[in-house]
Amino acid sequence: MSDWIISKFGGSSVANAGQIEKVRAIVEQDARRRVVVVSAPGKSGADEHKVTDHLINIATAGAHFRQQHIAVTVARSREAVINKFSAIAKELELDGNELLQSLRLDLETDLTGDRRIAFLASRGEHYNARLIAAYFQRRGMEAQAQLPENFGFLVSNACLDAKVLAPAYDNIARLSEYSGISVVPGYYGVTENGEIAVFSRGGSDLTGGEIAYALEAETYENWTDVNGVYEVDPRIIADARAIPRLTFKEIRLLSSKGFNVFHLDAMLKCRNRKIPIHIRNTNAPSTDGTMILNERVPEEDIVGIARLDNMSYIYLEKDVLGEEIGFTASLLRIFQEFGISTYHYPTDKDDIAVLVNQDDLLGSINDLRRAIEKELKPDFMDVIYNLSILTPVGIGLKNNTYPIIQALSALGNVHIPIVMIDQSPSQLCFHIAVSNAVADAALKVLHETLIKPRYG
Ligand code: ASP
Repeated sequence: MSDWIISKFGGSSVANAGQIEKVRAIVEQDARRRVVVVSAPGKSGADEHKVTDHLINIATAGAHFRQQHIAVTVARSREAVINKFSAIAKELELDGNELLQSLRLDLETDLTGDRRIAFLASRGEHYNARLIAAYFQRRGMEAQAQLPENFGFLVSNACLDAKVLAPAYDNIARLSEYSGISVVPGYYGVTENGEIAVFSRGGSDLTGGEIAYALEAETYENWTDVNGVYEVDPRIIADARAIPRLTFKEIRLLSSKGFNVFHLDAMLKCRNRKIPIHIRNTNAPSTDGTMILNERVPEEDIVGIARLDNMSYIYLEKDVLGEEIGFTASLLRIFQEFGISTYHYPTDKDDIAVLVNQDDLLGSINDLRRAIEKELKPDFMDVIYNLSILTPVGIGLKNNTYPIIQALSALGNVHIPIVMIDQSPSQLCFHIAVSNAVADAALKVLHETLIKPRYG
């Protein structure tokens, strides 16, 4: 294990010169911060789009924004990318001429298809890393841009969803031979044929996780624009706090149920080497952030409550279906054939229900019903729409049902009807379905009951 800290800065942390100066000050403050992974510039203002989106728009002849009903032409995207980087260079007082010239040439690439998208999409990170390294140098720091194509960050050929290849780890480990600060662009790698391939969107997190793993870092810092992982959605509960510590398992349960924190695949490698991930706020570096760890002492039962909106509950009744071998498998296969993921399926002797995302039923609910009726011949079938699933999560729930009782009675006390309850087999969380219309109120009650008492 080394004492290095790998610090990854997300798009909003490197969106303009002011933010980049914050990054520099953070990096300078701890000599263990030896690798800095950067995203492409994100949005500086509400009316801006991320540089990566502009680049993908250029690569797809405008289809990228058109599909989202955003009226931005290729010419405007090109202008936005060039203006963004020239503004950053100017404000950081760098001579960006050479770099901007090279960017202009890259934008004229004659690559086609997915290779073109991957190459252009990667340019946001590529040029940002080069500019940031130049800025660090100008401010007297020993720093160098270390580019994936140069040090051999080898990835598979799936150029829009690349996976890291084993030989990449030895190449990454060689970054430790450099005595200064390596500034590495996130989100992309290079194939064995020397072509650029990108990870899935948000993939700079992955770059950071892989580097932390290869260098056996002490910590992987993930700098963003929020104070950490919140207990509940702070847009709904204004006084919600960031969770100080949670385990990889807990964040998985929170994330899969509507928490959007960071690229979950980025955790896998860190978990294998027990490297903690520290989520921190670039705009408030003195706040504690959230530590994600392999293990923690369960001082509290519940760390957070995830929420998933826009769910539907498909309910089936049939005499002794619970004893019919293969009934559940046949039902789930029908969902599979319709390409619909199933979230939970509480089941009993004569009935079963399947929770799905309502959007997946759009345009297919009638055909789905017909397929189920034809194949499984239920006595009764009903679909309940517009549900929210609230999921309290915490390792302290293991073998401790008291919080479930507390949650249900608190909701009962304020007359919030519960459509479904389901305890996860791991016992680390439980799910309560309520109507969308009362979900905010239900979340407030659960937060007051299960989390707030420990504020002291
Ligand atoms: N810039 C890329 C994206 O917007 C990758 C990242 O920021 O992590 O998806």
